[in-house]
Amino acid sequence: MHRTRLQAINSIRKKGDFSSGNENAPKVSEAFGELIFSHSRMRASLTGERLIAFEKALAGEKPLTEDVAKVLAVEIKNWAVKNGATHFTHWFQPLTGLTAEKHDSFVGFDEKGEMVEGFSASQLIQSEPDASSFPSGGTRSTFEARGYTAWDISSPVFIREHAGERILCVPSVFVSYTGHSLDTKTGLMRSMSKLSQSATEFLAEIGENTKKVVTTVGVEQEYFLVDKNFVDLRPDLLLTGRTLIGRDMPKGQQLEDHYFGAIPTRVQAFMARAERELYRLGVPVKTRHNEVAPGQYEMAPVFENANLASDHNMLTMEVLRKTAKQDGMECLFHEKPFSGVNGSGKHNNWSMATAEGDNLLNPGKTPAQNLRFLAVLSCVLKAVNKHQVALRASIASHGNDHRLGANEAPPAIISVFMGDTLNKILSFIEKGGDLTQMSAEQSMIDFGFNTLPMLPKDNTDRNRTSPFAFTGNKFEFRAVGSSQAISYPVTILNAAVSEAFSEFTTKLREAKKTSISTESAVLQVTKEFVLESKAIRFEGDGYSQEWRDEAKKLGLKELLTTSDALAEFSKPEHHKFLIECGVYSEEEFGTILNVQLERYSKHISIEAETMKTLLRQYVLPAALEHQVSLAKGLKCVESVGGDTSLLRPQRESLKEVSEQINGAYMRLEELKALQLKAVKVEETGDLLALATLFSKEVRPAMEKLRDHCDVLESRVSDDLWPLPKYREMLFIR
Ligand code: ADP
Ligand code: MG
Repeated sequence: MHRTRLQAINSIRKKGDFSSGNENAPKVSEAFGELIFSHSRMRASLTGERLIAFEKALAGEKPLTEDVAKVLAVEIKNWAVKNGATHFTHWFQPLTGLTAEKHDSFVGFDEKGEMVEGFSASQLIQSEPDASSFPSGGTRSTFEARGYTAWDISSPVFIREHAGERILCVPSVFVSYTGHSLDTKTGLMRSMSKLSQSATEFLAEIGENTKKVVTTVGVEQEYFLVDKNFVDLRPDLLLTGRTLIGRDMPKGQQLEDHYFGAIPTRVQAFMARAERELYRLGVPVKTRHNEVAPGQYEMAPVFENANLASDHNMLTMEVLRKTAKQDGMECLFHEKPFSGVNGSGKHNNWSMATAEGDNLLNPGKTPAQNLRFLAVLSCVLKAVNKHQVALRASIASHGNDHRLGANEAPPAIISVFMGDTLNKILSFIEKGGDLTQMSAEQSMIDFGFNTLPMLPKDNTDRNRTSPFAFTGNKFEFRAVGSSQAISYPVTILNAAVSEAFSEFTTKLREAKKTSISTESAVLQVTKEFVLESKAIRFEGDGYSQEWRDEAKKLGLKELLTTSDALAEFSKPEHHKFLIECGVYSEEEFGTILNVQLERYSKHISIEAETMKTLLRQYVLPAALEHQVSLAKGLKCVESVGGDTSLLRPQRESLKEVSEQINGAYMRLEELKALQLKAVKVEETGDLLALATLFSKEVRPAMEKLRDHCDVLESRVSDDLWPLPKYREMLFIR
């Protein structure tokens, strides 16, 4: 074995005992939320008029008043300083898909010139980071670089610990001087409010009154853990988060023994420590387990309002990353860190609830509620069918391109899985059947009038191949990538469903004029929606070629790469609903699309550059040394004389290695030529053409180059191979 790999393994082996250190920690219920200034804490700091004003602001009815902000700023500062915070920052989510912050200390001076900790209402509510350093898709030049972050009071402020320092973080939206959104949170909040509005109107029209409808989300976060000693030896993992080369292992997931298996001690300690911190930050982590691939794990919280769930997922990723580092590991969120091994996703469990907490995707307790349930389902089906391109585009990224359609992840064709029971009911509706006549066995959901209606929770079969599946009382948008901020896909989904609700309401008003009852009118529109979106429903194997053929016939889009998806999405017919419903302005949409294209090309460009480094500084030196040693050996043995035909296998090996080296050199030249071509295209400013070049030419060229590297890895002597191998990174911890 190469000495650097051996050193890495030896230092991992020395690590010994692992413990979470939580033995004497307080009960979770006591520690939960201790690092947040919760809404109840805020309420407790306010009285009378101020409390009323605060509740209005929280409900999104009125902006937060200066008067209330003043009181809160003092209370929050006192709490933060008491808890050891020295600095504060507005914590926001620019279009990079990450979070951003800029720390300010609480340092201030009183009238006597004495230093005191200060934090004003305006510092709490607003700050002004330089927007020019954040991606804006070329829509904003540096001279008008002013950007504002503004506190989103629906997400409580929190204290984050980092390197022993404590920082007060104020969750914020990020907008330009002209009010143009520059982040992923503003759109999400707008989409939630649009959805609330249209869903409330829809409910009123079917005879149910509620004040608002909240989007709920619970995210299952998948990730890989790899020891830092290995990562440090791999420029590709360090710079791109995935292995650009690497031969897959003989023992992968064939044995299927990792999924739900016992969690390794070191990982268990890591998870417990990360969860501890997340609890203190008010993130309700619920489940943890091993995932399908070796070295892969998953964590999921209890669902929350989508905005909070989105902030909490960003925090979860931060805490997992940080804790892993402290534990000498790297937490990989890339969608496909290891070729030939299961990739990572982020299942977005999504639903909607009324102000009273009634889940709209729960089959109800009364026949009327079941009718409501079906009507809501029909709206979601219609939305996903109509806006499949937008949904596909919302999850498009350089990482997810490796995962979608890769035969172990959701396919690149958007479809909806309903499960057997519901599918039967929907087919029944399509045919115009009378639901009250449907037998209990047929439906399992009762539309009759006496018996207790219910849909057994677990009757929803699992279909891992579906990108969008109904799972009993929520939909699971499974095609979302593991590294992605959820805010964008949830925004698109909300906007699509919101539009469907509005259409339903309009149609229902019409239908009511000629129907004998509201119920029959609701059923009539439901039927229309179900029929209209029939193509999007698919219960079978999403990986099969038959489905791809069938989907094509049905007119569904198979958008294999990010550039395909974004090219489609850039057509007004596929995105104008976002502008019409007011989630984005035309200009904001342009910004988002451009940033997405730009980031895609940049990431692949970095990968291509890193690949060259790997080849020149790691693979070729090892392969050439191996080649020389084979040649020397051959020459030496030949010089002794005797039957040289016996040396044929050695000659063949040498020939094979030489061919692979030669192939690698040729591919390297091709890659370099493509990089030059990319520079030319970039100069034209055509972002889509550039992204297309990267996906259709650069990526395939990198794959071809990789093939040579991977063959060489399996031929070159293990002593000479400096890059940690898959079996080491995935099995040694
Ligand atoms: P599974 O692996 O079976 O899909 P998990 O328990 O790992 O399920 O994750 C399910 C996720 O769905 C959890 O985060 C859970 O809180 C969330 N969830 C449950 N009900 C709802 C709902 N009504 N709206 C949004 N998310 C929900
Ligand atoms: Mg799931």
